[in-house]
Amino acid sequence: MYLICLDLEGVLTPEIWEAVAIAFGIDKLKLTTRDIPDYDVLMKQRLKILRNNNITLKDIQEIIADIDLLPGALDFLEWLRSNTQVIIATGSFIEFIQPLAKKLNYPLIFCHNLEIDKTGMIINYSLRLKDMKKKTVRALKKLKYNVIAVGDSYNDIRMLKEADFGILFRPPANVQKEFPQFPVVTEYSELKNHISNHIKLKSL
Ligand SMILES: [Mg+2]
Repeated sequence: MYLICLDLEGVLTPEIWEAVAIAFGIDKLKLTTRDIPDYDVLMKQRLKILRNNNITLKDIQEIIADIDLLPGALDFLEWLRSNTQVIIATGSFIEFIQPLAKKLNYPLIFCHNLEIDKTGMIINYSLRLKDMKKKTVRALKKLKYNVIAVGDSYNDIRMLKEADFGILFRPPANVQKEFPQFPVVTEYSELKNHISNHIKLKSL
């Protein structure tokens, strides 16, 4: 039986931090795991910028509430959920993704959480589990699922490698070049085809 693990940002939604960066006019907040593969270095830099600019969790949540899904993302996800089981595994935080979860009709999402102080400033982040995406796939395989994983960036590669079949969706050129073993797709229709064909082929 198949289970599909999807990354969130870059696969179903735009990059949250990019939207926040644009809203506040802070270019350095645009950097993502596409640019800085070490997540801890990246997050500490983000939190420092927020602190220095007095940006609270509420300020960010207001921006996230206005983020639209990628065009076609909801149709794709609905199709996928009506045909197989889906888990979204994201490096983002529950405090950020709730409005996006609503727009996606509340799929199952594995994520992390933030630490907030009394003034509403984000003071730290807490990973529910280190290397969560990969460990999710590994655990599902122990439960006798075949796993197809879809991601776009460096922080998805270990998940894609662990999966029975990994697919890169709209990856940046450097990720695509560094990991040529994964098929690359740019449209949801292609992604549907890849997933359907793989499941059909393996079920024969
Ligand atoms: Mg992503």
